[in-house]
Amino acid sequence: MTASANLPTTLHCPQCQEDNPLEARTCISCKASLAVARAQRYLDLAEADITAARYDHARSNLTQADVEMLGLSSKTRKENLFTARAFWLQGLIYYHKGQTGESRTELLLALQNLEAMKGSEALTAKVLNQLGNAAFYERTTDAAEYYQRSSEVAISADEHALAATALANLALIHNMGGNIEEAFAWYEQALAEAELGGDPIRLGDTYRLVASLYADEGPYPRALVYINKALALCNQIPNPAAVCRITLGAGELYLRYRDLEQAERWLRQADELASRIDYKLLYNSTAVALSNLLRIKGDYPAALNYASRAYNQIHLALTERGEAMLALALYYIDLADWMHAERYIQRLGDISAGQALGSDQFYHAHARTLLYTAQGEWQQAEQDFQQASTITQTLHNKYELANLQEEYATRMLAYIGARHNPTIQVRAHALLVEAAATFRQMEMPLRHGRIATMLRRTPNQVAS
Ligand SMILES: [Zn+2]
Repeated sequence: MTASANLPTTLHCPQCQEDNPLEARTCISCKASLAVARAQRYLDLAEADITAARYDHARSNLTQADVEMLGLSSKTRKENLFTARAFWLQGLIYYHKGQTGESRTELLLALQNLEAMKGSEALTAKVLNQLGNAAFYERTTDAAEYYQRSSEVAISADEHALAATALANLALIHNMGGNIEEAFAWYEQALAEAELGGDPIRLGDTYRLVASLYADEGPYPRALVYINKALALCNQIPNPAAVCRITLGAGELYLRYRDLEQAERWLRQADELASRIDYKLLYNSTAVALSNLLRIKGDYPAALNYASRAYNQIHLALTERGEAMLALALYYIDLADWMHAERYIQRLGDISAGQALGSDQFYHAHARTLLYTAQGEWQQAEQDFQQASTITQTLHNKYELANLQEEYATRMLAYIGARHNPTIQVRAHALLVEAAATFRQMEMPLRHGRIATMLRRTPNQVAS
């Protein structure tokens, strides 16, 4: 047994209160068994490992804790919350490895074990929040219910930091479902709880989530303010997974803003961190974001590398697989490789079929719009654009619609080139005007300025 930062360096005897060395199995003074203290110690070590993203270490400490618990009565294990805590920690390990099904099973066992136990509120709130995370992508309604229950348990026990996490997650779900006003209301509560709690991890995560809401809705400078507040906390955050989420969030934000230098800086940092700590869920997202960044910069071989890396992880069964397929489809459309582009669009269609109206359907319609535009199939392209537009309105995502309008119009103009095609020129002009208005309203001057330049070159009146 080795010492870990912030953990006591001795084992406390429950009988005579003597401090014992970490290796001791029985108390040096009274010979009482130290199994309870040892089990506690291994669970503490496993939790510290998970915080530091050392998942393999955590697993071996958890196995040691199980060995110590074998010598304890089930009553002792239950009263000390040992069994529930072991299930919860195992659930966290599975989650970070991308095994959400296995994670859920362990968490439900933890919850069962916590029922009617005294002093179990904090752990119950953590387990409920993590159940929400495990359900997040595929069963949104369940996730919202778990987050709500977690926040209620945490608030009743004055656990502000835990309440903040659950409330911020609840806000995120409402944001994704297009209930913007409700999302803002939950975020306000989450920020208040996070500030009361004073825990930099929770506060950083909450700032990051508030930033993502402003990124979809504007005003954009407010998104930057919040992500920079989160970044400023990073050197106080001992949890590399939390730092990784914040740096990825910063990279994605700057990419939308088209500050490519800042975007690349933060995305590379997030990617390196996700790889080092083996945070599979985020390693997937950093690859998608880097692929999009490099495609915009015109570095196609590197863009393909990252998109393929993300695509090869799609067994993770997460929403990011749609993003990875879109990144690959856009890459092949740029290269006019229709066969490959169509293959990934077909797969996007397969995964989004039968789902509720959401991001995967949007990615599918988005990719088809651009494929047909690049082929000059105007009618089909317009039909898919209308569908994509309907989805963004349902999801209340102003940014995605403006972004697609710009890409769609840009590709129309690229297709006709110097040729005279008044119908297409008028349509492209109208789309650019709409996109520019949204970007101006969202206070994104770099995006707005670029379109303004394009508009000056695009005729909107056609002489008869
Ligand atoms: Zn003793």
